[in-house]
Amino acid sequence: MQRKDSSFVDLHFAFSVLRFVSPFGPSVYRCKCGFVFGDPFKTLTPSYTLVLKDRRNTHFRKAFGADYNGYPTATSAHYPLHRAIQRVMTSPKFAKAQTLSEDIVQAVAKYLKKKSKGNFYLPGLRGTIERVAQSYLDCRHAKMKEPEHNEPIDFLKKALIEQGLIKANNGWVDAWGTK
Ligand SMILES: [Zn+2]
Repeated sequence: MQRKDSSFVDLHFAFSVLRFVSPFGPSVYRCKCGFVFGDPFKTLTPSYTLVLKDRRNTHFRKAFGADYNGYPTATSAHYPLHRAIQRVMTSPKFAKAQTLSEDIVQAVAKYLKKKSKGNFYLPGLRGTIERVAQSYLDCRHAKMKEPEHNEPIDFLKKALIEQGLIKANNGWVDAWGTK
């Protein structure tokens, strides 16, 4: 396990939220600090997919104390916010929601509390939930395909969707730091 560099970790809190690039998740190609994990124009062969995933996981381990797969743990500095928002937004109650509501924010907070992974007792949690949930709604407004309520979302699926968006846009679609 790598030792966490506190200034590097702080840097990640200073940046804005990790917004959804598609309803399937945040960027797998670039961190919110601007660090690029791989070339989105390169074919996602099994070996290149592994390289991309490994670079991303290594970066997240360093930045957030994530586990080997880049996911939050009981003590990591990040938490399954995107998963929580996906589950809430695809639930029957909010599957048609077009605007952010107090009910959505509360449902996401409840999910995080139930999962109890990561240090989500941070100041500004509400604002973070609101901004990230809004980025999911932005994808919905753009009529992007959404996952099924409990659909397992693997790395390759997310990468392929983001790659398609980047190719169509001929540039990055994560727009980090702008929201
Ligand atoms: Zn980073």
